Amino acid sequence: MGYFDVKTTDFEYTGSLLPKKGKSYEETLAELEAMEKIEADELHGHLMLYKFSLPQHEEVGKIAKEAHLRYLKKNALFDTVLPGFAKMEKEVKFMAAEILNGDKDTRVNMTSGGTESIYCAMHAAREWARVNKPDISEPEIVAPYSVHAAFSKWCRFTGIKLKRIPLGADYRADVGAMENAISKNTIAIVGSSPCWPYGLFDPIADLAELAQKHNLWMHSDCCLGGYLSPWVEKLGYKLPPCDFRVPGVCSISADLHKYGYSTKPCSTVLYKNEELHKYHQCDVEDWPCGTYHSEGILGSRPAGPIASAWAVMNYLGEEGYLSLAKRTMEVRQRYIDGINSIEDFKCWETDLSVIVFETGELDMLSVLSGIFQKGFVALPVFEPPLVQICPDPVDDDFVDRVLEMLKETRNGVRSGAITADFLFELMA
Ligand SMILES: *Cc1c(COP(=O)(O)O)cnc(C)c1O
Repeated sequence: MGYFDVKTTDFEYTGSLLPKKGKSYEETLAELEAMEKIEADELHGHLMLYKFSLPQHEEVGKIAKEAHLRYLKKNALFDTVLPGFAKMEKEVKFMAAEILNGDKDTRVNMTSGGTESIYCAMHAAREWARVNKPDISEPEIVAPYSVHAAFSKWCRFTGIKLKRIPLGADYRADVGAMENAISKNTIAIVGSSPCWPYGLFDPIADLAELAQKHNLWMHSDCCLGGYLSPWVEKLGYKLPPCDFRVPGVCSISADLHKYGYSTKPCSTVLYKNEELHKYHQCDVEDWPCGTYHSEGILGSRPAGPIASAWAVMNYLGEEGYLSLAKRTMEVRQRYIDGINSIEDFKCWETDLSVIVFETGELDMLSVLSGIFQKGFVALPVFEPPLVQICPDPVDDDFVDRVLEMLKETRNGVRSGAITADFLFELMA
């Protein structure tokens, strides 16, 4: 049985699913294993990440898992009674500041993922605006159309207005259009490096200049590339600057559970200095139990992913991250060359690791459908229709398998053997 034989639409509420008497350990484990077998073979979580098929990289995943498991039962909320963990957490923060070109003034908070990092940074921006722009009662954030869905979610939760501004012809933030969109209610400007849909860097330096000119909070969303681009730059690739080297950047979100290679969920939100970090403040006093300190939005939070980040960062070191970054960029180039040699498909020129390709006359969803049918995972972009892939630092054999799969998919869609129906059923 493959994952496409199981449809969530088949599951119905019966009111009698919870066993009266619990199952045995063995039986439960066997059922769990059966479920695990159904999952897509090549699905490695959120991204196509976490596949370490090269022998020299195999231990990265192992050490991440080992550290996570050892801290599985620990609640990071109580880090005051976990001094070992507290030390690791602090070291992860210092290493994060180091990697993202911060300094001793940089302040870092650990979060459960890019979404929470973005919530925290936007919360800080709003608190900052309460003090620095007290006349604003209906705050707005100005962002390029391509920023992550998390910004829309946070704005919905808080009633803040998100102005998604149409992109330039190059699919990057249109600085002029964003400046025109700034109003007396604007509190913050956002840009991504890279953005999720197109793998392109927004001109953060220009946006940050705009923010400074209009006295606004500037957030740089480096969730995807934050723990990859610094190494890629060191390898000699030219990338637009996006971190604290850019004057005017107030906060950065960067996910350790993407190219930082920790387990999930784990991310970081960074603030330029204590002056800005104080607006992150999530402590609460007005309840019966005194000061309730939280790292971010979560209360109880898992220690495992942070221990795993610490272990991976120590295991890899600069050399290890550089080697993974080098391989990731090699893999990206092999994919691009391979995909461009498949008729109908054409890759865009992206800035970092992300690959997006057009499907020519072929229906993008049918192509995606073929990819899923073969047990692989890629993601859709609708405006315009593109297939998006985030590559792992895998071996050449795996790259060849993916390219072969894409070729078969193209032929199947071309001949009409593959349609989008499979995908529609999967999503139903
Ligand atoms: C992944 C991502 C996010 C959200 O991160 P999660 O960890 O999925 O919550 C935000 N922005 C960008 C650019 C991302 O790639």
